[in-house]
Amino acid sequence: MTETVGAPAGRSEAEMLGRRSRDLFDRALRVTPGGVNSPVRAFGSVGGTPYFVASARGAYVTDADGNEYLDYVQSWGASILGHSHPAVVRAVQAAAERGTTYGAPTEGEVLLAEAITSAVPGCDEVRLVSSGTEATMTAVRLARGVTGRPRIVKFAGCYHGHSDGLLAAGGSGVATLGLPGSDGVTPAAVADTLVMPYGVVPEVDEDVACVIVEPVAANMGLVVPPPGFLEGLREACDAAGTLLIFDEVITGFRLSRAGASELFGVRPDLFTFGKVIGGGLPLAALGGRRDVMEHLAPAGRVYQAGTLSGNPLATAAGLAVLGLLKEPDYEALSGRVARLAAGLLEAIRGAGLPVEVPVYRTLFSIFFTDDGMPVRNYDDAVRSASTGRYPPFFRAMLRRKVALAPSAYEIGFCSLAHTDDDIDRTVEAAAEAAHEVVAQAD
Ligand SMILES: *Cc1c(COP(=O)(O)O)cnc(C)c1O
Repeated sequence: MTETVGAPAGRSEAEMLGRRSRDLFDRALRVTPGGVNSPVRAFGSVGGTPYFVASARGAYVTDADGNEYLDYVQSWGASILGHSHPAVVRAVQAAAERGTTYGAPTEGEVLLAEAITSAVPGCDEVRLVSSGTEATMTAVRLARGVTGRPRIVKFAGCYHGHSDGLLAAGGSGVATLGLPGSDGVTPAAVADTLVMPYGVVPEVDEDVACVIVEPVAANMGLVVPPPGFLEGLREACDAAGTLLIFDEVITGFRLSRAGASELFGVRPDLFTFGKVIGGGLPLAALGGRRDVMEHLAPAGRVYQAGTLSGNPLATAAGLAVLGLLKEPDYEALSGRVARLAAGLLEAIRGAGLPVEVPVYRTLFSIFFTDDGMPVRNYDDAVRSASTGRYPPFFRAMLRRKVALAPSAYEIGFCSLAHTDDDIDRTVEAAAEAAHEVVAQAD
């Protein structure tokens, strides 16, 4: 296959570079539905074949064909120190030497629970689980058990994992696939789920057990809560005797050590955490007020359990990460993300494409728009995605070896391993990619 050196990355080059990934994807399609173990990974909404990762270090992932990508997926935010941080790898290796799981309690679980509760005001106790889905599912069950009420309120475009009652109008992969929810979820399973628009304080009736919200929405792109929204939810919940759940699976230990609740000065009754606190291993948690948490079995009568809950490898990884993350790290990361977001905005607009690049501390996303309006809720996010500009932009970035999230509804994750040079390179790639998208459209 011949390619002119320096020629724009064409189809044939892209195909040559991706041969092993394509072979693996073909094999995967025969043995796994859609070829992947989580839907967005299949590149369905951006086109092309997913790169299969062989290894990763710091800000970079290397695929099965040896291509190295500057990575803004970072395992959907689970890696904040960057991939395979030496201290995390050592901690996991050392834990594995002592055994990988026992079905009996360990010191690591106590240490991680102490680390989380001491960092997050209002989070008196935690229960460790293995995924964010389990954490939110259990938080909702707990709220129903404590209040004796059936209904829950969630917000369109907020993603709380894939349990039946929380899938309605979910963001993330549900949005990426354009689904209202999912087949297989019975009307009865969602009959008690009320879906409201993000950013508007709903009426909360006295049959509502809990209001669950992403305090900073990060699964329909990034949507920062409008002033008064979280405070309003707190007041509405207090007035109705309803529990307020902040799903901080992304924001927890990502925006700051204490997370969104402290940054916005609103304290929920229950929190859910995941991603960062597992240091890249399967671990999540729900936590909150002691009097509420004490309703969980075996202290109370709301059942929850897990064979691998508080797994020693996962707690070792989580402890290593939380032990290394200091407040100045968040300020440094926020500064880098602010510079990146400003650079992306200028580069993409400079090419003549209308775009918004919302940023909140360590999080950012890219919304292509037609009307220049900021994205405030799920309807706006859907309108942005329907411009169709994200997929070609994504592919143009990938050809330049910058890996953004393969969906217009996902946000960008920077790690502490991303350098100023990495960010400059990303902005340069974005300028070229945006020009390419404009040229293709002509
Ligand atoms: C990722 C995510 C979840 C689900 O976590 P899993 O570990 O993927 O089950 C829940 N809530 C939010 C806000 C998330 O971003």
